[in-house]
Amino acid sequence: MKNGKTHLVTAAGLLAGAAVVAFLAGREFRSMRAVEAIRPGPGLTRRVLLSAYFPALAGTAGDTDVYVFEGGEAGGTVLVTGGSHPNEPAGFVSAVVLVENLRVLRGKVIVVPRANASGFTCNDPQEANPQRFTVASAGGPRVFRLGSRLTNPVHQWPDPTLYENPAGQMLSASEVRNLNRCYPGRPKGYLTERVAFGIMEIIRREKVDLGIDLHESAPEYPVINAIVFHDESAELAAMAQMSLQSEGLEFRLEASPQNLRGLSHREWGDAAGIKAVLIETPNPVQGRLKGRTTPALVVEGKDKAYLKASRLGRLFVPYDEKGAPLGGRVARHLAAFGAVLQSLAELEPEKAVAFEGLPDWRRVAAEGLGPFLR
Ligand SMILES: [Zn+2]
Repeated sequence: MKNGKTHLVTAAGLLAGAAVVAFLAGREFRSMRAVEAIRPGPGLTRRVLLSAYFPALAGTAGDTDVYVFEGGEAGGTVLVTGGSHPNEPAGFVSAVVLVENLRVLRGKVIVVPRANASGFTCNDPQEANPQRFTVASAGGPRVFRLGSRLTNPVHQWPDPTLYENPAGQMLSASEVRNLNRCYPGRPKGYLTERVAFGIMEIIRREKVDLGIDLHESAPEYPVINAIVFHDESAELAAMAQMSLQSEGLEFRLEASPQNLRGLSHREWGDAAGIKAVLIETPNPVQGRLKGRTTPALVVEGKDKAYLKASRLGRLFVPYDEKGAPLGGRVARHLAAFGAVLQSLAELEPEKAVAFEGLPDWRRVAAEGLGPFLR
């Protein structure tokens, strides 16, 4: 009898222990859905949701914040998307820096920092990526999510065997969750296609003149440190490249292949007739040649394996002991944003957008992100 009581106590103890573990694990899992704060500066005119442009997204995991900065004078309208691929942190953080610093005097700038909001609620399987990274700022540490390239399968499942995207191209199954293959979207399609459609609705309703999609890619991938441009934006991109070069920033110019369909800049240009570019910076968390992936690698970008690969001539970007820090990559995105807007003003003066508060890329590269996050 005494023995039976001991068993009961042991069983109750184990059950309670299992409940505690389940609670803690569940809390950690649920925290993946928490959205980190973005703290808009005084330049913000209004914040709305993507569902304001496409109501069918209301209440879905695809709905996301849209930040509008409007000047007192009429001018052009520019759309900036970050987080199309939530595993490319410089694209997302550059959009956050814009939201927290920009003041528009003429024309309009619309920023969507988490274009694929669902992709921020998970990360890529089998990559051993950290879920979060921390950037020091004057007001304390800022914690950001490192998400997945693709929409969370919890929100969009199952993938088809083959995927024919809205632009008519056949792709492999999982690309159905890749926002940057789902343009121009489908109003009644998969969640990712509906998000793409919602972003097209911003372009149509706000009469956007120029779209800039902020990305990163692996240092061993040839399209990197690049401005990828739609056919109609060749001159705009070339002028921006020259002005960046004169400031000491090298960017490759990459013409977007006409038969690669469903990408933001391709379909924004083809379906909506706007000027469109995509900016790429080197992300040492993304490639295959990297060593261990840690939150420090996300922010500092220093990796011995990449250093070795660089010495062997295997990378498409300069890479030395200083690595590829997030601050330097965001600096490149901000510089490219400034240069592309300057080119737009020169090519089509009536569509000029005048602004203040864009952090000087040299300072961001030298001092890091801290001084430019609120
Ligand atoms: Zn990307």
